[in-house]
Amino acid sequence: VTDWQGKHVTVAGLGVSGIPAAKVLHGLGAAVTVVNDGDDERARAQAAELEALGITVRLGDGATLPEGTDLVVTAPGWKPDKPLFTAAREAGLEIWGDVELAWRLRGPDAAPWLAVTGTNGKTTTVQMLASILRAAGLRTAAVGNIGVSLLDVVLGDEQYDVLAVELSSYQLHWAPSLRAHSAAVLNLAPDHLDWHGSMEAYAKDKGRVYEGNRVACVYNVADKATEDLVREADVEEGCRAIGFTLGTPGPSQLGVVDGILVDRAFVENRQKNAQELAEVSDIEPPAPHNVANALAAAALARAFGVPAKAVRDGLRAFTPDAHRIAHVADVDGVTYIDDSKATNTHAAQASLAAYESIVWIAGGLAKGATFDELVAGAAKRLKGVVLIGADRALIREALARHAPEVPVVDLDRTDTGAMLAAVREARALAQAGDTVLLAPACASMDMFVNYNRRGDAFAEAVRELASADG
Ligand code: ADP
Repeated sequence: VTDWQGKHVTVAGLGVSGIPAAKVLHGLGAAVTVVNDGDDERARAQAAELEALGITVRLGDGATLPEGTDLVVTAPGWKPDKPLFTAAREAGLEIWGDVELAWRLRGPDAAPWLAVTGTNGKTTTVQMLASILRAAGLRTAAVGNIGVSLLDVVLGDEQYDVLAVELSSYQLHWAPSLRAHSAAVLNLAPDHLDWHGSMEAYAKDKGRVYEGNRVACVYNVADKATEDLVREADVEEGCRAIGFTLGTPGPSQLGVVDGILVDRAFVENRQKNAQELAEVSDIEPPAPHNVANALAAAALARAFGVPAKAVRDGLRAFTPDAHRIAHVADVDGVTYIDDSKATNTHAAQASLAAYESIVWIAGGLAKGATFDELVAGAAKRLKGVVLIGADRALIREALARHAPEVPVVDLDRTDTGAMLAAVREARALAQAGDTVLLAPACASMDMFVNYNRRGDAFAEAVRELASADG
C-alpha cells in the first residue's frame, strides 16, 4: 500500500501499539477506525484523544469488523482466532501487526535490522547487542518488544546505522513480510501455548524471524529445534547458518574455550581459524544461560561486521535490567534473588540451575504450561517451596510427583500482603547458605500489574523483614 487516501483501516486495540498506529495511518490520509474490547475510564480518555484528531473509536466491541474495512492493523497480543480476524480473512483482507506496519511503511529504508527472538533471553540479548554495536561506533537502538515502538523509530527523525530488534512470537505471527539482515532464535520452550494453539504453531511463528535473512541465521547448537527452523527458512542466497554453543565451537560457530568466547564463523585473520572475542568474566552475570545470550549477540554483531574488540567492550559495558537474577540482599546468611522476569518454566529452569540450595518462591498464571520437567530437574536443589498465585496447584502436584520430600507452603492469598507472607515463609524454611529465589515460572497478572511490580514487592518484603530483624 503506498496510497493511503480513502483506505479504510481498522486498528485492533488501543494501547502501546494501537494508538501510535492509528495516529500514523490517520496522518497518511487513511480513514481509521480503532476497535477495542475494553470500555473503561482509561480507554475512554484515550478514545477522546484520538477522536479529537478525527479518528473513529469503537469501545466495548473488538469482535465485529467495521463495514468497508480494507486492512486490519492489530496489536500483537490479539489472538488469531478472534472473530474480528476470522471475518477479515473471510473478506480476503490482510492483517498486519505493529512490526509489519513499521516494516511496510519504512522498515528496510530506515536501517538494517538485527532481529532477536526466542522463549527467553531476548531483552538481555538485544541490550547486549546494542551495547556491542555502540562500542563499534555505530548509531543504533534497542527496539521492538523491549518497549520501544518500531513505528516511532523507523518514522522518527533520528538516523540509525543498524537496529537491534527484539521480536515476540506474537509480533512475528503478524509480520509476514519482514526481512532482517540477520536474526537469532535463542531457544525454544513451551510458552504462550494458549495463544498460539500448539508448540508447533509457536515454533513456526518464531521461525519467521529467519525468513528472507540476508547474511546470517543464528541458532543455538544445544537446542536442535532452533537449527531445524533455520533449515526450514527461505533465505537469501549466501546467507549462512551460524551456531552458538557453550562448548568448543565447530566451523561456522561461536563458542567457549577455556573461559574465552571464541568466534570460528567470522574470522578476521586468514592465518587463523578462530578469533578471540571476550572473556566469560566480561559478562554480567556469568551464568551459563547469560553466556549463551552474549554469544548470540556477538554472532549477530559479527554478522554485521563488528570487530572483536567492540564485542568485548560492548559486553563489559552491559549491565542487566532489573528483576533478572537481581541480588536483593543477604540476611542472616541467606541470599535473596529476584528473578521475577522468569515468567515461564524455561526461564525458571535457568535460574534454578544457577544455585545449589534453594527455597523457591513460585506460582502465578501458568499460561498452559506443565511443571513436571522443571520440578524433576530442580528437585535435589530444593530446600523448600512457597507457592503463590492462581495456578499454584499445578506446581504443587508436580512437586508431589517428583519431590515429595521437599516441604511446601501453599499460600492461598492474592491480596497485597501476599508477597510479604511468602517471603516470611521462605525465610522460615531457609538456613544460612541457602538462596531464597523468586523465579515464579508463571506470569504475574493474577496478583500484580506486571513482573516489575512482582519483583518490587519481593524486594520490599525482603527489606521489611531485614529491618524488622535489625
Ligand atoms: P525475554 O526478553 O525473552 O523475556 P529476558 O532477557 O528478559 O528475556 O530474560 C527473562 C528471564 O529468562 C530471565 O530472568 C532469566 O530467568 C531467563 N533467561 C535469560 N536468558 C535465558 C536463556 N538464554 N535461557 C534460559 N533462560 C534465560
